[in-house]
Amino acid sequence: MSTQLAVKPKLQPKAEIGNSYDLIIIGGGPAGLAAAIYAGRNRLKTLVIEKMVLGGQASNAYHIENYPGFPEGISGQELGRKMTEHANKLGMQVVWGSVKRLKTDQQQIEVSVDGKTITGRAVIIATGSENKKLDVPGEEEFRGHGVSYCATCDGAFYKNKNIIVVGGGNSAIEEALFLTRFAAKVSIVHRRDELRADKILAERAIGHPQIYFFWHSVLEEIKGDKFVREASLKDLSTGKKIIVPIDGVFIYIGSTPGSGFVKDLVKLDEQGYIITDDKIRTSAPGVFAAGDVRAKNLRQIVTAVAEGAIAAEAAREYIERVDNK
Ligand code: NAP
Repeated sequence: MSTQLAVKPKLQPKAEIGNSYDLIIIGGGPAGLAAAIYAGRNRLKTLVIEKMVLGGQASNAYHIENYPGFPEGISGQELGRKMTEHANKLGMQVVWGSVKRLKTDQQQIEVSVDGKTITGRAVIIATGSENKKLDVPGEEEFRGHGVSYCATCDGAFYKNKNIIVVGGGNSAIEEALFLTRFAAKVSIVHRRDELRADKILAERAIGHPQIYFFWHSVLEEIKGDKFVREASLKDLSTGKKIIVPIDGVFIYIGSTPGSGFVKDLVKLDEQGYIITDDKIRTSAPGVFAAGDVRAKNLRQIVTAVAEGAIAAEAAREYIERVDNK
């Protein structure tokens, strides 16, 4: 049932992937692509390593309406495509794969990607974050059969159906609004009685005729046969169990940073986000971090892009400093 909407773009690099680069950027989301654009303009030989799709998680957003320059909004896929095109124009090379390890010494940084070792003089970690799982019975069993983490990918399967969205942040509310295009009824299950989402989104959802709320409630179990049929909720204020007949569950309860592969190399905060200084340098020399993987307050495409630019400039300065030693 689940589809992968975001596809690897047609604009593929033509050049052979080499063994050594000035700059290796791990992650091709908005932060990584912005870094590639700035590095390209400074003529750094740059490689982007991406495991899924250029454009990153933002490519799954149906409609982005707070990225400056697009007053009518833009789809995540289109924005990702434009950023990719821009970076390609500046000579970005891309290799598809998953980075398992980073090793640094005074001169260079070794990156192991799917059995191959590539060296860089500087590295930017822009690996973003992944959707958190609720970890309740039925979640894994019905994944792709009524449980989804991507409304843009799977929303169209729920025409005239009843679904629930778990979470109260920007992602949950934006995607719940999007899902009203298909579903007859969207019920938001939130553990508190106030949404975390931006006020403008919260107002839109609260006033929406197809959106209903289960406040101070949690999803405890998902049941079904071949597909999801029922959600078991608990009202935290009364302790009462509520059984809701449903066809689908969309889970948006935040994300976990993609920093596991560098946990022994750079300093992380208690949630696993990479700690950086004001030049977004990590605790390892020559290693920078940008975008959602970085410890910070505001996780937005606009902040990811800005950090990508800062990281590329900081990497250039770092390489020049090492050269001049
Ligand atoms: P988020 O802001 O961390 O919100 C997660 C939501 O899930 C919160 O409401 C939280 O409840 C709830 N939650 C967390 N763990 C839970 C659990 N175990 N059980 C039930 N509920 C749980 O995550 P997000 O919405 O994915 O957004 C991530 C970041 O991206 C944020 O910085 C957000 O602003 C940004 N973002 C921005 C936009 C935009 O500006 N257009 C769109 C999407 C995302 P509590 O509120 O009680 O903690």
